[in-house]
Amino acid sequence: MIYIYMRKSKTKSKSKSKSKSKPKTRSKKNKKSKKKSRSSGKVYILYTGGTIGMLHDKKKGLVPVKGTLNKLVNNMDIDKRLKITYHIDVTKELIDSSNLQIGDMKIILEKLFANYSKYDSFIVIHGTDTLAYTASMLSFFLKDWNKPVIITGSQIPLFEFRNDATRNIIDSVIVSLMRINEVMIVFGGKILRGNRSTKYSSTDFVAYKSPNYGPIGEIGVYLNIFKNKLLQDKIQRYNVYPPLPRIPSNWDFSKWNKEVKIYTLTLSPEQNATPLEAMIALNPQAIILRTYGIGNAPVSDKKFMDAVEMAVRQNIIVVNTTQCVNGGVNMTFYNTGKALKKTGVISSFDMTPETVYMKLFYLFQVLGCNNVPLIKKYFKTNIAGEMTIDKTSVHIGSYLKSYFKGYQEL
Ligand code: ASP
Repeated sequence: MIYIYMRKSKTKSKSKSKSKSKPKTRSKKNKKSKKKSRSSGKVYILYTGGTIGMLHDKKKGLVPVKGTLNKLVNNMDIDKRLKITYHIDVTKELIDSSNLQIGDMKIILEKLFANYSKYDSFIVIHGTDTLAYTASMLSFFLKDWNKPVIITGSQIPLFEFRNDATRNIIDSVIVSLMRINEVMIVFGGKILRGNRSTKYSSTDFVAYKSPNYGPIGEIGVYLNIFKNKLLQDKIQRYNVYPPLPRIPSNWDFSKWNKEVKIYTLTLSPEQNATPLEAMIALNPQAIILRTYGIGNAPVSDKKFMDAVEMAVRQNIIVVNTTQCVNGGVNMTFYNTGKALKKTGVISSFDMTPETVYMKLFYLFQVLGCNNVPLIKKYFKTNIAGEMTIDKTSVHIGSYLKSYFKGYQEL
């Protein structure tokens, strides 16, 4: 038996039993809309590689092998048990996702687009190493899809007696039937927004976390969906600039630009200026700085700051993201952040590193590489639920100072 429990975090969830006092017409309407929102259960599954369908090779170790996953999934009888139909498609090359290239992402996108109208929901089976990158990428390119897209994989291959793959596949199919129209990761009993997630553990069955958002649902004995956390239609009102293209109606793959260059520099004590200068010399469109804490950098290193200024002058978008997993960036606290902001470095707020990279990539693809001011504006805008914009943050020290006139910080 499957229990599905929709939880609203603020308001009390309505009782499932029909209320006798409600007028007939209303309950008829409810029934109708319930019927409408239920998926008819045509699921497209795309297997791209990863541990989940790998077998042991004596020399190479674990490698993806064609046919394994299809056979094992078909043996699970998901279609009969859930009364759905599904089709498993396979990419030409099955890869360990550590080998994932932007071209592989394009193949996934093209496969999904080719099947959009034929299916109700979509599941991408992927290696876990770069799964969060693909999830972020899909969330931007598929932002106008209005169909559930789930990405999953496993830490132990499906062929092994003890595995986490069986559960992840079954959970993904069940969640895909729930009409949650966004890109999600279903893994280890968690339902996460794709562009809010990061690989957190290389060995735990709960391999992903949303460090700045939390899960949008959980699957144990009950399947809990936290309705207030779903994307739904929340996003449209933030699109205040020239609209982003609706894909695929006014953008197509012929416009795909293979030359987009985005580099990442993780700061460490010393030796930051030289690699930064080397990156600038290669003429990228963007450089992501992985700074310390709340977005702080060694601003007393003159060579480093000169390089940052040079990058901004050359119209390279320089983004500040933090090495901290949780909390995000705020360049207004410390001089070590303020000085970066002053040069024209832009904040990544509380976006994950995977999302920062893929959001930039998406914007360069759809807006072109020369539209730097617009790309910067959109980068700071919530496009697909990837950043927190409706949070009221109060700096407690300043608040206390203004509230209690005599308040003194120690
Ligand atoms: N290296 C594998 C991959 O990302 C790891 C996995 O799938 O769990 O393809």
